[in-house]
Amino acid sequence: MDLVSRDLEAIWHPYTQMKTAAKPIPIVKGEGVYLYTEDGRKLIDAISSWWVNIHGHSHPYIAQKAFEQLNQLEHVIFAGFTHPQAVNLAENLLSILPKNQKKIFYSDNGSTAVEVALKMCLQYWFNKGQQRKKILAFKNAYHGDTFGAMAVSGRSAWTAPFDSLLFDVEFIDLPNKENVERIKSKITNLKSELACFIFEPLIQGSGGMLMYEAEDLDVLMQHCQKEDVLTIADEVMTGFGRTGKLFATDHTSAKADIMCFSKGLTGGTMALGITSCKQEIYDEFLSDDKMKTLFHGHSFTANPIACAVANASFDLLMKPETLENIKRIEQKHQEFKSGIQDHPKLKDVRQTGTIIALEWATEGTSYFNSIRDALYNFFLDRNIILRPLGNIVYIMPPYCISNEDLDYIYQQIQEALDRF
Ligand SMILES: *Cc1c(COP(=O)(O)O)cnc(C)c1O
Repeated sequence: MDLVSRDLEAIWHPYTQMKTAAKPIPIVKGEGVYLYTEDGRKLIDAISSWWVNIHGHSHPYIAQKAFEQLNQLEHVIFAGFTHPQAVNLAENLLSILPKNQKKIFYSDNGSTAVEVALKMCLQYWFNKGQQRKKILAFKNAYHGDTFGAMAVSGRSAWTAPFDSLLFDVEFIDLPNKENVERIKSKITNLKSELACFIFEPLIQGSGGMLMYEAEDLDVLMQHCQKEDVLTIADEVMTGFGRTGKLFATDHTSAKADIMCFSKGLTGGTMALGITSCKQEIYDEFLSDDKMKTLFHGHSFTANPIACAVANASFDLLMKPETLENIKRIEQKHQEFKSGIQDHPKLKDVRQTGTIIALEWATEGTSYFNSIRDALYNFFLDRNIILRPLGNIVYIMPPYCISNEDLDYIYQQIQEALDRF
């Protein structure tokens, strides 16, 4: 049997209606921005393999560091033990995070990084002896697929079967100049019950690449600080250069109390999650009373291979060329945007850093929009992986993508606009 038939016999794929989905495409090799199929096609990975890849596929430096670590120590329990890669990575990260971030807690993916952040906040108040259980989040938010992460995500088709089991969350609109005062009053009114405010800074990814102003977020973050409501910046997608700066909250003057990372953390090579926090949160768990411990940990917490790979990705991220590439992509996107934004078939074109999103003017914006499959197949036929969120086509490339490949993608989008 060929690979695809064996796949269909044995595997259940994520976010996939197995009855109607097209057959999966076997990928046998990755190099730079390209993925190679079993039958010899070369595809441009314009969505960084679900937003994780930042330096290109099978990067030789990352591969070397993973190999060296595999020969040294593959894994060790992280309660009661430590290892050099975890310590180096914590120091590396703390050196580039906002100065208020003081401690690094490891887990193994973005959803668990969010779960840990929520538990830190809820238990912070529990340890203080205060009843604060309500969480504030944005409508259309996406924070992951585990139960806590789902609860703080917007209610949608993805959460519908579980809605009655998700804990109560106070949802607010994205801030703008008109509504920000209203949101501030709401926070003030609820503050005695609010444990924390969790948000995707600047861009709501899965919600449809919805973007909002750093200035308006800054006002909300400052207000939370004033009202003693903890803030969690979920930088799982936005971290490590995506928004043009190392972190999305580098665009705001207020700093979050807790931050979540995954995806680009390892350059997209391995699963790893991190929740960082400020000193006051950490201190609230220090006690002779064992009940105040943060009882959370995963088998593969701070896996040494994942940490080694994250350190290698950090080295690459810190190279001046990487930042130049980020700026270059940003500029290319901006040029493309100004040339195309008045197209009659587009309802909106928005761009932040290395991400550009084009919203097709269809009846209603929905993840299940039928234009989605047509566009997906159109680009795939032209050897580009773009995976529209309904009627929203976005490009989120690895930073090593060439201008030629970007131009090719833009050109194919132009053609798609003529066609659909
Ligand atoms: C992808 C994502 C998550 C979940 O990360 P996983 O590793 O897929 O569990 C959480 N928050 C944001 C903002 C994300 O984009």
